[in-house]
Amino acid sequence: MPHAPAFAMNGVTVRFGGITALDAVDLEVPRGRVLGVIGPNGAGKTTLFNVACGFVTPAEGSVRRDGQPLTGLKPHHLPRHRMARTLQGLGLFERVSVLENVMVGADRTATSGFLSSLLALPRSAADERRLRERALTTLDELGIADYADRVPGSLPYAIRKRVALARALVGEPELLLLDEPASGLSDEEMESLGDLILACRERMSVMLVEHHMDLVMRVCDSIVVLDFGRVIAHGTPDEVREDPAVLAAYLGDE
Ligand code: ATP
Repeated sequence: MPHAPAFAMNGVTVRFGGITALDAVDLEVPRGRVLGVIGPNGAGKTTLFNVACGFVTPAEGSVRRDGQPLTGLKPHHLPRHRMARTLQGLGLFERVSVLENVMVGADRTATSGFLSSLLALPRSAADERRLRERALTTLDELGIADYADRVPGSLPYAIRKRVALARALVGEPELLLLDEPASGLSDEEMESLGDLILACRERMSVMLVEHHMDLVMRVCDSIVVLDFGRVIAHGTPDEVREDPAVLAAYLGDE
């Protein structure tokens, strides 16, 4: 399917009891593009991200990767679909080195949803060397190789976020899912995150769920706006910025 988008949702509906968190959501991440997902508090962004990662299974609708259905997707299936994600909570292993944290991301042998299971698995010397080299290259590309031997708990938040990104990128994904990567960053750090996302775009497709409008407007090719679980607007940053439904949704959130 040469023209299939890297990622697509069609009619995705998620209910939690009586709450419809996502209501027949359609979206597409074209290859080599950055799609932003924005919306006021409670709009359904986290739920959408969780569907994309396989944490939440929709009641209705389909999720496709390169045109192929991702039926029964679970988080540990992501590498086999050449997908990777970063989470708001980062999920770093605090007591092992930055290098080992990133090596885990390069390891394709995950058999459960728990990356921590990989820390306990024996590796051959050759595998260990290969993973180490890839992890070091990625840390270097992200400008954090100096921290390789430190443990994440001792590092500033912005560096920890970069470690989480390195762990996602080290597996050379074709589709990167980012959940609020800018939260907690200074303006300067956000600027450099924007540069990084734009650099990623050269090599992969990206879905960015984010609150910070400046970042979204700068790096996204297109944007989907959610409100009460529905897509209320979809277009380029300029189109979305001017959309009356979007302005109303955000003003209603004040
Ligand atoms: P925020 O910007 O505040 O993080 P959001 O856009 O990420 O919000 P979601 O967290 O996806 O929105 O929530 C969408 C709706 O679904 C909300 O009404 C929320 O209360 C509800 N919801 C989300 N997760 C659950 C759950 N596990 N059980 C019950 N309701 C939930």
